[in-house]
Amino acid sequence: MEAFRHPAYELLEAVVDSAAFRQAAGEALARVRAARDAFRSAGGQPAGAAAASELLREWDRLFEPLGTVGALAHLWSKVHPDAALRGVCDDVEREIAALSTEVSLDRALYERLVGIDPRALADDEERRVLERALRDFRRAGVDRDAPTRERIRALNEELVRLGQDFERNIIELGRSFRIPDGQAGLAGLPADFRAAHPPAADGSVTLSTDPQDRIPFLSFAEDGALRRDFLRAHLSRAVPENLSVLRDLLARRAELAGLLGHANWADYVTEDKMARNAARVREFIDRVVEIVRPLAAEEIADLLVEKRRLDARADAVGEWDRLFLVERLKRSRHAFDSQAVRDYFPYASVRDGVFNVTAELYGLEFVARPDLPRWHPSVEIRDVHERGVPIARVYLDMHPRAGKYKHAAMFDLVAGLDGGPLPSACLVCNFPEPRGADRGLLLHDQVTTFFHEFGHLMHHLLAGRLRWRSLAGIATEWDFVEVPSQLYEEWAWDPRVLERFARHVETDEPIPAQLVERMRRADDCGKATHVLVQMFYARLALEYHSSAPDARDLSDRLIELKRSLLPFPHLEGTHFEASFGHLHGYSAMYYTYMWSLVIAKDVLARFGADLMDPSAARAWRDQVLARGGSRDAAELVRAFLGRDFRFDALEHWLRGTTAAQIA
Ligand SMILES: [Zn+2]
Repeated sequence: MEAFRHPAYELLEAVVDSAAFRQAAGEALARVRAARDAFRSAGGQPAGAAAASELLREWDRLFEPLGTVGALAHLWSKVHPDAALRGVCDDVEREIAALSTEVSLDRALYERLVGIDPRALADDEERRVLERALRDFRRAGVDRDAPTRERIRALNEELVRLGQDFERNIIELGRSFRIPDGQAGLAGLPADFRAAHPPAADGSVTLSTDPQDRIPFLSFAEDGALRRDFLRAHLSRAVPENLSVLRDLLARRAELAGLLGHANWADYVTEDKMARNAARVREFIDRVVEIVRPLAAEEIADLLVEKRRLDARADAVGEWDRLFLVERLKRSRHAFDSQAVRDYFPYASVRDGVFNVTAELYGLEFVARPDLPRWHPSVEIRDVHERGVPIARVYLDMHPRAGKYKHAAMFDLVAGLDGGPLPSACLVCNFPEPRGADRGLLLHDQVTTFFHEFGHLMHHLLAGRLRWRSLAGIATEWDFVEVPSQLYEEWAWDPRVLERFARHVETDEPIPAQLVERMRRADDCGKATHVLVQMFYARLALEYHSSAPDARDLSDRLIELKRSLLPFPHLEGTHFEASFGHLHGYSAMYYTYMWSLVIAKDVLARFGADLMDPSAARAWRDQVLARGGSRDAAELVRAFLGRDFRFDALEHWLRGTTAAQIA
């Protein structure tokens, strides 16, 4: 189709093997190197306003030839069925990272940008592009002396390798868990789970510690000792390998932050985020903890009562009891059974529901493209049309398979530009796949995840018409990124949204509003403890990046923090830190989920009672989503709300009062 005729789409529309990808990557790397050399050698100050803008544009597009290659290397290294191609993708990612570091430390490139007089630029947006480019150069260390820059380069290279090792170890050194008596051990699990895990000849059953086995087992298995042993296996993934990888990763980051003039990595990495420094993050976490700790203590007391119904002598709730007892409480208090409600959520209905709801909100259409090549037969492709004109392309890779990424995420593929390519992105999830009579029933939790990831997707696509590459898509502050996604989760909790697509597989009845209401109340069970655990993760990530890593053993620090924050004891001999994947990708910034949730809860009020009201959606799209990184996130939110965002809405949510109650 004409609209997608752009070099950025060539690789996406070709059938690619590892050799072809290797070659395309080599050519793209060479083109960026040539553009870099040309930019560097031109020299001299730009004469006049037009020349200044042109030079800035040249800079902004420098990495464009690597755009799709880099995005596909990142995506395919995690999902491609061809192991050889996954390996090539890892290499390509390392080469691109090395080139980025090289460019970010190149004094001659920096000097050319410093030579641009901001007053000569056309508007504030151009000045922002320049300001951010210079800031990123300085944060990378371009103004340090030559030996320091060489050390910075070496550290960055090591960090890429350590990060890849850390993530690969978590995937490859995952654990399996053998239950000698499978029949008895799976007591409490739903029938389709037991059918999918038949016993071996000796009667044993082997589970993996991946989410699709772990969540059901920890939620429903009746044998507490088995749940404890399962959790122990899960929290022993990548041990001992990642313990030393993590120590090295933290040590290199601490050294790098020092060379870049910061007290520690936590301060360095938060400097260009909404939070601005680690002290404000710590304050924020403390504020949330202060609210939820007493509430979590009450919840644990309730869970202990529930546990004593099964075992009169029980005197404590273990970490392995939490999901199981929360499920029981949901059933006994709110007559809510998370397994039964799956009957309203067959995969295809949910997918069409998410498409239709989004289409109606934003005046769009999603048009299937079965004619295009894809990396796996289960991948679906849709073009996004607005008033009959294509504006974006969406890929869905939604079902689990061996060797595929285990979680849910949005991967951007093409950064859209005004006058350039249309934007494109891919959702990767692990939802049940419809097969024959089995329609692939989702938990409501998974429906929420679908909306969450679609929120990221629309943010990337709708910010795909800006004039500057460095401002396009989700190029906003990292601690704002989870706002559109967590906001969109609210649609999965609204009875009037759900009744549009959630119909019972047998009776075809739409989901009753009372059931949604019970589901919402049941969701409050264990909420404070869940938030407290999230804050434990956030504090752990922050503390690991706040002091010299060798001062104390990482496991000791984890146990100490756990003791001071959480209402259940540490499970002896486990090492959660070895498989805490966010320590690589997010480093000190696990707090961003809760920080974004503050804004999402505040923004929700502006949508009012009718989430399908297109005028609020239009304003959200125009004033926030479509703006990408063209202004500070706080300013975008101010434009949408007519005021600064506030902590109150989150506090009310945590305390369980509704907006109506607090008026
Ligand atoms: Zn997210």
